[in-house]
Amino acid sequence: MTRFEALGLREEILQSLNELKFEQPTPIQEQSIPFILNSENDLIAFAQTGTGKTAAFGLPILEQVDDQLNETQALILSPTRELCLQISNDLATFSKHLKHLNVVPVYGGVDIEKQMRQLKSGAHVVVGTPGRVLDLIKRKRLKVENIAKLVLDEADEMLSMGFKDELDAILAKTPQEKQTLLFSATMPQEMMRIAEKYMHSPEQISVGRRNAGADNVQHQFIPVHSKDRYEVLKRIVDINPNMYGIVFCRTRNDTREIADLLMKDGYDADALHGDLSQAQRDVVMNRFRMKNIQMLIATDVAARGLDVNDLTHVINYNLPDDPEVYVHRSGRTGRAGRSGVSLTLLHGRDKSKLKQIEKTIKKKFEQKAVPSGRDICEKQLFSLIDKVEKADVNPEIEQFIPAIASKLSWLSHEDLIRHFVSLEFNQMLERYKNAPDLNARAESKGKRDRKEKRDRKPKKGSDSNGSSFSRFFMNLGKKDRVSPKMIIGMVNKHMPNDDVKIGQIEILNNFSFFEIERSYEKDVLEALQHARHKGSDLGVEIAKDKS
Ligand code: AMP
Repeated sequence: MTRFEALGLREEILQSLNELKFEQPTPIQEQSIPFILNSENDLIAFAQTGTGKTAAFGLPILEQVDDQLNETQALILSPTRELCLQISNDLATFSKHLKHLNVVPVYGGVDIEKQMRQLKSGAHVVVGTPGRVLDLIKRKRLKVENIAKLVLDEADEMLSMGFKDELDAILAKTPQEKQTLLFSATMPQEMMRIAEKYMHSPEQISVGRRNAGADNVQHQFIPVHSKDRYEVLKRIVDINPNMYGIVFCRTRNDTREIADLLMKDGYDADALHGDLSQAQRDVVMNRFRMKNIQMLIATDVAARGLDVNDLTHVINYNLPDDPEVYVHRSGRTGRAGRSGVSLTLLHGRDKSKLKQIEKTIKKKFEQKAVPSGRDICEKQLFSLIDKVEKADVNPEIEQFIPAIASKLSWLSHEDLIRHFVSLEFNQMLERYKNAPDLNARAESKGKRDRKEKRDRKPKKGSDSNGSSFSRFFMNLGKKDRVSPKMIIGMVNKHMPNDDVKIGQIEILNNFSFFEIERSYEKDVLEALQHARHKGSDLGVEIAKDKS
């Protein structure tokens, strides 16, 4: 196990890392810190957000800065103001025991005079957004002629945000003899050009696969009809009471509309889009960081630079056209060792996009079903009960207990629970009373063809005749209160768009058998993979032998 002590960092920096409880370098840190410290060559590092890349370039830079020399020795360029602040805060924390070392952030949208004063009073390391950095260089307030290190962080984001000309102009002002460090999740064509033009035989390192999604992200999709998207989104939020996530939409209108609907329906949500002023944007982002907002509804551009590490979910309300945009979206969850879910509401016509993304991330998406009203109520109810169990009991309440106990003495223990749960829970039960099944089937072309063929065939009779039916086994029986009605209901629920004939049903104590029109055998088997009964997973398979 490599430790920070072995990487050649000075005592003051090790002390900060110790205080931050960073015990061991992350893989990108393990590779890049010794390289930056010991080599003069340039570096291209492929690293996802959340891999610890700020420290990967930040620590060796802080190690090598001479704080007795009053000039800018390192320039770090980042695509957004938020990321710029995040990096400069991290660097300030890492260097807090190096009393004379100054890190100065410079970014647009705020008073430039203050930043000029800060630069004048000494800036060993400058972290900035390309537009503001170029502006300060032109005003001769930021001198980059003598820098020894240049970092292009999230270089692909800077290019996709249209900073190509600024980058060209800034790079042209920097000295030939410097070390350039380029950190990026992907390597678009334009970045290759920058690397070729400005970097000298760069070394390449990558953690994980290039273009691969973060490893602890589960990629899932739910087939939905367009008209049901919003309803399905609400169900997903309802079945995940502790969700903290971003819902990505295509347009700012969509973000506004969905956030408005969610707020009207009582959810803690808000929209983040390009029409907001910087001040409005700050308010929304701060509320999100403080977790006063559970769900941020955002466009890809607006969410750039928003650095939140503990998202449980990323929801793709629509899939982006470019698979790399998906890589960025999903990389916002599953960070810093936590697990996360990237869930896509998939319309049938976007199936080919999904396939392309699977190729890019080299992972298969897992199909999920739209949660049923019953499942949601059960989950919410137990989440509430869990909170009750874990609630901190305030001793102040003691003084009221005798009076409360006497007032409620006519209620039995069970009735008391019923009353209390109803008070909290009636709204949810009401919302999902008679909730329809919103599952849309993700049909492949092959399946559609098979279905059309079936539809052209004359329908078979509904009685079992052995050859036209397949026999299924199910791992639940009488003791689980399985009934013919439940089985018919289950098949209809999971095959909503098909008229599937059901044959003989046989319910034994511990398991059951039922027959399904043979031409639907595979479809039913697939559709029932995610079926649940009274909160537990069903095991359904083709029965091996009639006996
Ligand atoms: P970054 O990719 O730089 O945004 O870092 C992601 C998160 O991981 C941040 O919250 C860092 O504070 C944290 N982090 C970075 N390096 C380490 C480390 N070696 N040990 C523990 N946490 C780390």
